[in-house]
Amino acid sequence: MDIHEYQAKEILRDFGIITPPGGMAYSPEQATYRAHEIGGDKWVVKAQVHTGGRGKAGGVRVCDNEREVFDAANEMFGKKLVTHQSGPDGKIVYRVYIEGGVDIERELYLGFVLDRSTERIMVVASSSGGMEIEEIAADEPDTIIRSVVDPAVGLTEFQAREIVFKLGLGATHVQAAVATIKGCYRAFRDLDATMVEINPLVVTADGSVMALDAKMEFDDNALFRRPRISELRDKSQEDVRETRAADRGLSYVGLQGNIGCIVNGAGLAMATMDMIKLAGGEPANFLDIGGGASPERVAKAFRLVRSDDKVNAILVNIFAGINRCDWVAEGVVQALKAGDLDIPVIVRLAGTNVEKGMQILAESGLPIATATTLAEAAGKAVAISNAALNPSKIAAVS
Ligand code: ADP
Ligand code: MG
Repeated sequence: MDIHEYQAKEILRDFGIITPPGGMAYSPEQATYRAHEIGGDKWVVKAQVHTGGRGKAGGVRVCDNEREVFDAANEMFGKKLVTHQSGPDGKIVYRVYIEGGVDIERELYLGFVLDRSTERIMVVASSSGGMEIEEIAADEPDTIIRSVVDPAVGLTEFQAREIVFKLGLGATHVQAAVATIKGCYRAFRDLDATMVEINPLVVTADGSVMALDAKMEFDDNALFRRPRISELRDKSQEDVRETRAADRGLSYVGLQGNIGCIVNGAGLAMATMDMIKLAGGEPANFLDIGGGASPERVAKAFRLVRSDDKVNAILVNIFAGINRCDWVAEGVVQALKAGDLDIPVIVRLAGTNVEKGMQILAESGLPIATATTLAEAAGKAVAISNAALNPSKIAAVS
């Protein structure tokens, strides 16, 4: 789960990280009021959306007076911010954060990720802050410092100092930078985070070390024991299709194509999407209905996939080990009989009770296309979907 910059900053302040003074605004008037409260002569108006790259897309604006703060906030509210990280649909701005403007002397990058190869938390830092880590990796890979934390001892003082020295920070900044690194590590570990990123971490003209941006991601599977974190969820920033699925306990990722996929097991779901692509089609989603899916669950999955208007054909691909083909078939029949399914369905079943499953489909009298291999199923789904997209082509063929 992602949270907003202002929420991440609030959490990190509890772990000793220094940030500029700031406050939330939900209207341009409130933005000006906040700027007045913060004081000083420079402010930054920052769109709170679940995506990075806001600066380059107009979502971070430096202002020199309260009028500019008002105008910047006024422009941002309700705007769809499309950044190079947000995807083509962008994210709508409903919240704006007003922060005191800081005179930056140096911008650094500091990140904490779960490194899957070492199965440990890894600190990633670079003296080239302000750019995305992917850009740093491409343009200035030599500046990247990586340091793996041993879980038995945690992040040591020595290790943090070593990172700080490699960043080229002078003696006056060592203590503050070490405190920042250690604080972020504790926040990561204590709150079941999967990512903490401060980009940029800056040294200011008056010599302090501050987090100007903050991003945190949390492990969804640990949210049950983190009520303070789960409360920070902002559904307005999530794909509605994915939110609906998560609320129903289904594992769903929305994509851009037209073929809806209902599959069991993440591996098979990936293979199904590959086969669709290979046959010249585009999947509309990744949906794993999981093991032991009841007919009700299958019917629920159908409704979810169908709720995406782009979907013009549904491919069901089940390899039943723990699952049972007859249950899945019953679910398909249930969904179709409920009457709210007006698009072609292609079903491929294999494994436990496959004969019984095929029999249920055949006896239902419903227009369900079946296939015995995945390649055949994908081929049929793509042909049907493409025909629906280009009706003129069928006319030409027939
Ligand atoms: P994003 O990463 O989404 O583009 P950031 O919060 O990193 O957003 O802001 C982009 C840039 O704006 C930063 O790299 C920094 O140079 C500048 N900036 C952000 N906050 C402040 C601030 N409080 N004072 C001065 N400059 C800021
Ligand atoms: Mg940033």
